[in-house]
Amino acid sequence: MSAQPEGALLRSFERALECGELHMVYQPKVRMDTGELTRLEALVRWDEPDFGPVEPSRFVPLAEKHGLIGPLTDWGLRTTLSQYRKWSKQGLDTHVAFNISAISLQSLDFPDLVERVCNELDVPTDRLVLELTEGATQPLIKLMDTLTRFRIKGIGLAIDDFGTGYSSLMQLRQLPFTEVKIDRLFVKDLPAAHDSCVIVKAIIDLAHGLGLVATAEGVETPEQLRFLRSLRCDVAQGYIVARPLEPDSLGAWIEEFAGRWPELIGEA
Ligand code: C2E
Ligand code: MG
Ligand code: MG
Ligand code: MG
Repeated sequence: MSAQPEGALLRSFERALECGELHMVYQPKVRMDTGELTRLEALVRWDEPDFGPVEPSRFVPLAEKHGLIGPLTDWGLRTTLSQYRKWSKQGLDTHVAFNISAISLQSLDFPDLVERVCNELDVPTDRLVLELTEGATQPLIKLMDTLTRFRIKGIGLAIDDFGTGYSSLMQLRQLPFTEVKIDRLFVKDLPAAHDSCVIVKAIIDLAHGLGLVATAEGVETPEQLRFLRSLRCDVAQGYIVARPLEPDSLGAWIEEFAGRWPELIGEA
C-alpha cells in the first residue's frame, strides 16, 4: 500500500467519501471487575476497490492535510451515532467512543456541531466520549476552551495513546479529561518487563488520583489482562477481548465473551 502515490490515493479518497465506500467498525471495551461491555469505540475502515484495505493511519492524516477532515468527521460521527441509537433501542446501555482529529478542535464551533448531531440522532451527549490523540505539533493545552465546552455539554473526553505525546502529565492535570487510555506500547511487554510494569502502574495510580477512568489499549494476552486487573485498571480493550467488530457481529460477541470471561481471568 505504501507504494500508492499520494495524489492517486487522495482522489480516490474524495470519491470514497462521496460514494459511501467507508464504513465504521466497533471495538468493545470491557470493565475489568465484571467483564461487562462498557464502551464501543468506533474505528473507520476503507476498502479501496483497486488497492484493497487502506489503514486509517494512512488516510486520516491525508484527510487532515487536504482539508477533508471536516466531511470525514461529520460522516463518521453520524454513522456512529445512528448505529449506537439502533443498539440502545435494542437495550444496549454503554458509552460510545469516537476518535477526533486535533484539527477539528481548532474550531470553537465544533462542540456545538457535535451536540447538534447528538440531538438530531437522539443520542444523549453524556453517552458520547471523544478520544483525542496529542499531535506532535499541537499540544492539547492550546485547545482548553474547546475541550471545556465539550465537558459543559456532558460529553466525555479521553486522552488516547497516553504516554507517547509530550508534557503529558501537565496536560492531564490541566485539561478536563474523563479517561486516560494507556498506549499499547506500554501494555505489550506486561508483565515480563519491569519498566513497563512500573510505568503502567504509575499511569493507573495517576488516573485514579485525578478521578479519571484508566483504560488499557492493545491487551492481547490473558497474562496482560490479569496483571492489569491486579493493578485495578478500570477498562480493557484489545484483541484478547475483541477485534473491531462489524455492527451485526456485536450480539454474538456479547454472548460468547460472557462465557469466556471467567476463564480469561483465571476464575473458571
Ligand atoms: P486508536 O484510536 O488508538 O485505535 C486503536 C488502534 O489499535 C486501532 O487501529 C485498533 O484496530 C488497534 N487495536 C486495537 N486493539 C489492538 C490489539 O490488541 N493489538 C493491536 N496490535 N492493535 C489493536 P486502527 O483502526 O487501524 O486505527 C488507527 C488509528 O487511526 C486510531 O488509533 C485513531 O487514532 C485513528 N482513527 C481510527 N478511526 C478514526 C476515525 O474515525 N476518525 C479519526 N479522526 N481517527 C481515526
Ligand atoms: Mg482511539
Ligand atoms: Mg489509542
Ligand atoms: Mg493507538
